[in-house]
Amino acid sequence: MSDEALIVLDKVNKWFGPLHVLDNVSLSVAKGEVVVVIGPSGSGKSTLCRAINRLEPINDGTITFDGQALPAEGRPLARLRSEVGMVFQSFNLFAHKTILQNVMLGPVKVRKEKPAVVRDRAMALLERVGIGNQAEKYPAQLSGGQQQRVAIARALAMQPKAMLFDEPTSALDPEMVGEVLEVMTSLAKEGMTMVVVTHEMGFARHAANRVVFMADGQLVESAPPAEFFANPKSDRAKDFLSKIL
Ligand code: ADP
Ligand code: MG
Repeated sequence: MSDEALIVLDKVNKWFGPLHVLDNVSLSVAKGEVVVVIGPSGSGKSTLCRAINRLEPINDGTITFDGQALPAEGRPLARLRSEVGMVFQSFNLFAHKTILQNVMLGPVKVRKEKPAVVRDRAMALLERVGIGNQAEKYPAQLSGGQQQRVAIARALAMQPKAMLFDEPTSALDPEMVGEVLEVMTSLAKEGMTMVVVTHEMGFARHAANRVVFMADGQLVESAPPAEFFANPKSDRAKDFLSKIL
């Protein structure tokens, strides 16, 4: 992990009507750092991820990515989005395109890269996530765990500087969770900067540099996993952990 910050949120506030969904959130993610975000349902974790990618506008505060203020719109925003890969609970693959076509689509259509170049990269990524032999199949022919690994390969095909994961294993059957976490763990080990919202505490313990606990839109605690799990400081974190561990 580097000393240099890649993602910096400074006093970010967001309201949905009267609901204060991000309440003065400040967070700095270093290059190569893996931050796991945990907290009760409705605490603002997804909104935080979406704000980093500007899928969700904020009302107050600043978010910078790699030293640059988040652009509001246009080409600069499209470029930023392509530098931050996002993986959601639902895989959102295109049903009528093959696995390989799904992975190639972003670089070819958005980045206007040469298909032959993208194809090699896409195949290498599919190999890496263990799906190389399924490239010509369609999403519906794959299991949920395989589809989510394709979604990760698709995000990586854009060669992002950071990856955001919003509950990537929550929709999977239990026996498929491990294969997706394995891919994420290997990415983390290779130095990818990652923000991961998850309820998988094993992943948090083993792969995270830092655990961030959110409640009611506030960033309540931030600590290395060993410290956080052994000694949560706030009552809200203690209460949350007592329910899930
Ligand atoms: P989490 O991911 O931690 O479960 P979210 O960020 O999805 O939390 O949501 C935080 C709060 O904001 C919740 O109370 C949710 O109902 C509310 N919320 C999320 N998206 C919207 C929206 N588009 N409009 C209104 N309220 C929303
Ligand atoms: Mg959520």
